[in-house]
Amino acid sequence: MSAFVGKYSDELIKTAKYLATPGKGILASDESTGTIGKRLSSINLENVEPNRQALRELLFTTPGVSAYLSGVILFEETLYQKTLGGTPFVDVLSAAGIVPGIKVDKGTVEIVGTNGETVTQGHDSLGARCAKYYEAGARFAKWRAVLKIGPAGEPSELAVKQNAEGLARYAAVCQENGLVPIVEPEILTDGAHDIKACAAATERVIAAVYKSLNDHKVLLEGTLLKPNMVTPGSDSPKARASHNIFLYNLVVGAEVVAEYTVAALRRTVPPAVPGVVFLSGGQSEEEATQNLNAMNKLEVLRPWSLSFSFGRALQQSTLKKWLGKKENVAAAQEAFLARCKANYEAGLGKYAGGAGDAAASESLYVKGYKY
Ligand code: 13P
Repeated sequence: MSAFVGKYSDELIKTAKYLATPGKGILASDESTGTIGKRLSSINLENVEPNRQALRELLFTTPGVSAYLSGVILFEETLYQKTLGGTPFVDVLSAAGIVPGIKVDKGTVEIVGTNGETVTQGHDSLGARCAKYYEAGARFAKWRAVLKIGPAGEPSELAVKQNAEGLARYAAVCQENGLVPIVEPEILTDGAHDIKACAAATERVIAAVYKSLNDHKVLLEGTLLKPNMVTPGSDSPKARASHNIFLYNLVVGAEVVAEYTVAALRRTVPPAVPGVVFLSGGQSEEEATQNLNAMNKLEVLRPWSLSFSFGRALQQSTLKKWLGKKENVAAAQEAFLARCKANYEAGLGKYAGGAGDAAASESLYVKGYKY
């Protein structure tokens, strides 16, 4: 066996399989302090610890949500936060059968000599941090690599290689310390490219990532992949033709997105990987759910489960209902539960549509999004 077999191998395989339970998905609530600030300011709340705590408590204590979520990704601050009643969030989640995860990357820096392409930082002291997070109750991790499609053939070979290597080094260190690595090579939706260009870039990037994971002897059975869905660029001609660039994905249609996305994955993701959990990448809540549902309805062989690890597309309606007010918490939790249920159904190809109100159809696209 060429994969590294360490003391955590059995546990890693078990955790990854559990996270990939068909239908169930992951809530990405690991926004850095800066990013959550933008969410809070959209509802006129100050970016202070009590507000960050209150949002996370609302999400994690939603009654019934464990039927739809297998995991939650936390930011370091949240890993050590507690409910107002004094119970650590990690204990609240674990008791409900939801696996706590942790974001371990430290954001991106530009690769000198490229047209603004980036590589992700955070390898320094990663082993020590993973060991500390395992001790605190985390059982999986996330590292976001960011690539872009551009006019000069981007993503460049250099950016593809550097990000694939970075993800593989991260994944190996996580596994050595008992954390299942979520491998996230996100290709941004920014740009005027069509869906075929996105498909080609996605295949090229994911193929390079698995080559690096193999080179680094990562145990694929103990990993998950978190890719972008294959869509046209946010400023593609089709998008402009719709007179609303935010409708670009609807113009192409969920079935087309599903076909291109699943084809790209079937060509590049080994069957040893138990699950693929998509990021939402600026799609509206409803678009992301419809696309996931269409993928799970396709009648082609899919050796991995296809589910969600959404950030923006799971929280938008909830934020709008909450507005930071105690008296709105129950209604906000109801909106969050409805969105989780919709995505759970989409993970099984059984979503009938119509979850949520107008907020669910709002585009969440932000150019050059940083997490
Ligand atoms: P979005 O679903 O908001 O794109 O984010 C998910 C995520 O975790 C990106 O790293």
